[in-house]
Amino acid sequence: MIISLLKETGAMLDGHFLLSSGCHSDIYFQCARLLQYPDKARSVIAPIAERIRADIDSGILSIDAVVGPAIGGITAAYEMGRQLGVRAFWTERDDCGAMALRRGFEIDVGQNVLIMEDVVTTAKSSLETARVLESLGAKVTALACIVDRRSGERARPLPFHAFYAAVRIEAVNWNAEECPLCGKGLPLAKPGSRKQGKV
Ligand SMILES: [Zn+2]
Repeated sequence: MIISLLKETGAMLDGHFLLSSGCHSDIYFQCARLLQYPDKARSVIAPIAERIRADIDSGILSIDAVVGPAIGGITAAYEMGRQLGVRAFWTERDDCGAMALRRGFEIDVGQNVLIMEDVVTTAKSSLETARVLESLGAKVTALACIVDRRSGERARPLPFHAFYAAVRIEAVNWNAEECPLCGKGLPLAKPGSRKQGKV
């Protein structure tokens, strides 16, 4: 169901893409295309929110706020916060490119945070966001995302108490020189960058 929602809204594309990591892939996600529809955003995030609520109810997890790394995490975090009944805000890059809490957003010492992403590829933005929040005394208890598209990184455990994904996609990322699609001479699309969105 989630895959078909991603496809029908153009949030999951097949082709030949340059990722922000420099790797090439045959799948590209632009979850904002799905999240622009509030009813679809609700239905794609509801199953994850349900699992998180169950863990909160059983005492495994505690969440005071949801934080999404901008830009991809903003809408996803907002909808997750709405469903969990907690506030939601975001981290974004400052003028030097470092992830930061801006706009007067605050987190109190000891508050428990869920980081919410649209797509997790390397978890780089999530880890940077966790460092920012922890430096302010918050506890980052879990990471959630709509699409988990980690490949090689999957073997490496994430430093979060819990990790939730609506869907896991086995996407292959190739180094440019080993890319079979380049070998076939297919044109390479550059649909986004880390600054513009999430690849
Ligand atoms: Zn290629």
